[in-house]
Order: sequence, then structure tokens, then C-alpha cells
Amino acid sequence: MSSEFDYDLVIIGAGVGGHGAALHAVNYGLKTAIIEAADMGGTCVNRGCIPSKALLAASGRVRELRNAHHLKSLGIQVGNVEFDRQAIANHADNLVSKIQGDLTNSLKRLGVDIIRGWGKVAGTQKVSVTTDNGEKTITAQDIILCPGSVPFVPPGIEVDGKTVFTSDQGVKLESLPQWIAIIGSGYIGLEFSDIYTALGCEVTMIEALDVLMPGFDRDIAKLAERVLIAPRDIETKVGIYAKRIIPGSPVVIELADFQTKEDIEVLEVDACLVATGRIPATKNLGLDSVGVELDKRNFIPVNDSMAVLSDGEVVPHLWAIGDANGKMMLAHAASGQGIVAVDNILGKGKKVDYRSIPAAAFTHPEVSYVGLTETAAQELGLAEGFEIATSKSYFKGNSKALAENEADGIAKVIYRQDTGEVLGVHIFGLHASDLIHEASAAVANRQSVQKLAHLVHAHPTLSEVLDEAYKRAIAS
Ligand SMILES: Cc1cc2nc3c(=O)[nH]c(=O)nc-3n(C[C@H](O)[C@H](O)[C@H](O)COP(=O)(O)OP(=O)(O)OC[C@H]3O[C@@H](n4cnc5c(N)ncnc54)[C@H](O)[C@@H]3O)c2cc1C
Repeated sequence: MSSEFDYDLVIIGAGVGGHGAALHAVNYGLKTAIIEAADMGGTCVNRGCIPSKALLAASGRVRELRNAHHLKSLGIQVGNVEFDRQAIANHADNLVSKIQGDLTNSLKRLGVDIIRGWGKVAGTQKVSVTTDNGEKTITAQDIILCPGSVPFVPPGIEVDGKTVFTSDQGVKLESLPQWIAIIGSGYIGLEFSDIYTALGCEVTMIEALDVLMPGFDRDIAKLAERVLIAPRDIETKVGIYAKRIIPGSPVVIELADFQTKEDIEVLEVDACLVATGRIPATKNLGLDSVGVELDKRNFIPVNDSMAVLSDGEVVPHLWAIGDANGKMMLAHAASGQGIVAVDNILGKGKKVDYRSIPAAAFTHPEVSYVGLTETAAQELGLAEGFEIATSKSYFKGNSKALAENEADGIAKVIYRQDTGEVLGVHIFGLHASDLIHEASAAVANRQSVQKLAHLVHAHPTLSEVLDEAYKRAIAS
């Protein structure tokens, strides 16, 4: 590319989005730099996916080994199962260091310049970087913004990082409070309730909306509630919000009705995890220098090509990916968007197909989905003039799940009645986060249940749950 610039591409933010974009860019020979102000790897590697999955792996094993009833059904007996909280925390921490090192080395090895400092747009095709040694300006043919997100803490909630904390501190597992309140029943709240209950804590889950797991398909949420919440040491408060939280010992939580705002009760718990979503980290990015305004929720406005928009018009040579654009706040969505942005820099005319990007909650068992919920599919059908249908199959009819004696689970396929095209698939059950990818490929290729029902699945595998759902769809 052109040598009139210092770089072909400068990326602000070395989270998974920036990393994915950088690797793709150097594959195509772009001279690339990445600017990072804090931890290489961003949220996913340091405070998100990686440490939380390490904690879920260890705590899940404790739950499994302490489930005498389940083990006995398989003919196994174990003695007292003990664990060491600090050793579990170390497992997560060591994994973070390893993945952070691998990510940084992969960038270096491929010749990406890593610049440590705060990056800002400083006019068209210019970036200023503030480092310990002062400020410098570099030029780039194209700039990708990938500054990520931070936890959202609602007004009235005071976080001290010890007794009242967000997932940023939660992943460090510094304590195991006897009684912990979790504010929010989205995937972060659910995963932490899985970890805490497996390690013997009592949980009170507080959800402001009128249903638990509001982001999930209703059939999935209902079964997930029956398996992940009801039998565990979890009390739920729904339609109720934490109006005020005061850290200390005890932590004081003033609860009010979400609709009427009337005070309901005051809880005194040992600790509180605030898992009320995330907000974009889009302050002080210099966007005003190129006339870009953030949207109402402070996300960077982009189109499906990942180009940044100003008043609906594309700003040339400026792209934004990952959590900061709010399109789909997931690690793989961020890196997928990064690849699309680079492809478009190279003039390949790509768009992100959000419908085929899967999502998962790594509880025991897991929840996963891809595409539309039933409600969203119905709305689309109304708008575009088609009927939808659904087909369900159950893990209790699956030989592999029965062999494991873990047959709580469901797969639900939502499809167009006229063409059979799969619009969404939702799974709750053992290894749901792995099973979803077959459905994701089907949605990406806009395949029909008629076609999918004729694919042969290995027997006995959990994947036959989806096979069964497709077959039921064509039988109905
Ligand atoms: C507890 C938890 C669990 C999660 N689990 C999963 C999961 O299992 N699967 C999944 O897909 N997603 C998961 N996520 C979400 C996932 O972590 C995010 O979607 C992902 O990290 C977003 O990537 P990103 O590159 O957009 O931003 P980030 O990872 O947030 O990275 C942005 C980086 O930019 C840097 N930065 C910001 N501004 C500047 C600047 N001006 N100059 C220089 N550097 C800057 C930041 O320091 C940061 O390192 C989880 C999140 C949390 C909190």
C-alpha cells in the first residue's frame, strides 16, 4: 500500500477485536500498528472470557464430584471433595498470563508494531499516542477503533472492589462470601452464580426486568431456570432492582419495585456482584476531530461493513469494531468484525452476518443460541409476510446424554414454514456451546430444515439432538 503514511493500518485497542484485525491485516501484507493503553488482550483475556471459563471449569468439576447422587447412578463413589479457593484463582490467573503472552507474541512474530499508550484520532488518517515519553502523532491509511467496554454500574450502587464488585474483580475470586447477591441475570450473572453455588456460596439473584434471563428464548430460559436456578442455593427476586448498594460488612442493598419504584426490602449480605451489563469505553477517542458523534448510548455508530458513520454517512478510512459499536458484545463477534473491516479496507466489500454469530453461557449445563428468538422471528415474519414454525427435541431422548446421565436439555429450531429456512436455534444442555456451531453454519448458509434433516450424524453423539429437531420439523 501507500508509503506516504507511517502505517497502512493503525488499530486502537489490543483486545480480541484489535488482535483479530491485526492478524488478518498482516496476512494481507498491511504494515500494521496496534496501540494499547492497559493490558494486552483487553477484557476477554484479562477480565472476561478466559478467567471466567477457567473458574467455571474448576468449580464445575467440584460440583460434579460433589454430586454423589449423579456419581452413584454411574456406579461411582468418591470421598470428601475439597478444593482450595486460592489455587482455583491461581489457575485462572495463570491461564490469563499464558494467553496474554501468546497473544502478544503472535502480534510480535507477525511484525505488528505494538505501541503502549493512549491512542486518539487526531484528524483524518492521523492518530496521536500519549505514552510515558509524551505525545506523538502517526499517520495511517486506515484506522480501526477497538476500545472495548467496561462494566456498567447503575446509579445508587457504590463499588469498593472488595465487598461490592463487578466481574473485573469477580474473576480474581479473592473470596467466597457465604451469602452473595448477584445483580443481573444475564450471562455474566448466570455464570458467576454457577461458580459461586458450586463452591458452596448462597446466592440471591436480583433481576429488574419481569423475567429471569431476559435475553434468552423463553422456552430455553424456562428450562434453564428449572435446572440452573431452582435446585441450587439461589433465591431469585424478579421485577426488583437494587436502588442503593452500600459496601461494607454487611453490604446493605435497598431493593425497590422496578415498575412502581416503591421500596420493598433491605438485604444485608456478605458481598455483592454487580452484573448489570457493559458500556462502551468510547470517551476521549478524538472522534470530534473527524466530526463523529457517539450514539445515544455512547456507542460508535457503524454500518455492517464496520465503517464509522457521521450523520449516517461513511467517514472515509475510519472503522470501529468490537464492544465499542454495541452491535454484538462478544469476543468472537469483535474479531469477526475486525476481519470484515480489514477485508473492506482491502476493497473486498464484506458485511457482518450477525444472524449467524452464535452466543453461549458456559454454565453447567450450557446455554447457546444463534439467530433469532421465537419472538423476533415472529416479528420478522409479520413484517415480511411469512409464518414461522418451531421444532423441539430433548436431551432425554439422546443416547449419549443418557449414557452420561445428564439428560436435562432441549434444542429448539425456529424456521420459516414456507421455505424451511432456519432462522434461529437455541440449545440448553450438555456441551450446548459446542453443539451450536452446526446450527450456526446452517444459518450462515440460509439452509432449510428439509436439507439439514438429511445430514447423517455420528451415533451416539449429542449432535443427534439437533438432527432429531430437524427431522421432527420435516415430519410435522
Ligand atoms: C466476565 C466476562 C465474561 C465474558 N465471557 C465471554 C465469553 O465467554 N465469550 C465471549 O464471546 N465474550 C465474553 N465476554 C465478552 C468479551 O470479553 C468482549 O466482548 C470482548 O472482550 C470485546 O472485545 P473488544 O476487542 O471489543 O474490547 P476489549 O476486550 O474490551 O479490548 C479493548 C482494549 O482497548 C484498550 N483501549 C481502550 N481505549 C484505548 C485507547 N484510547 N488507546 C489505547 N488502548 C485503548 C483497552 O485497554 C482494552 O485493552 C465476557 C465479558 C466478561 C466481562
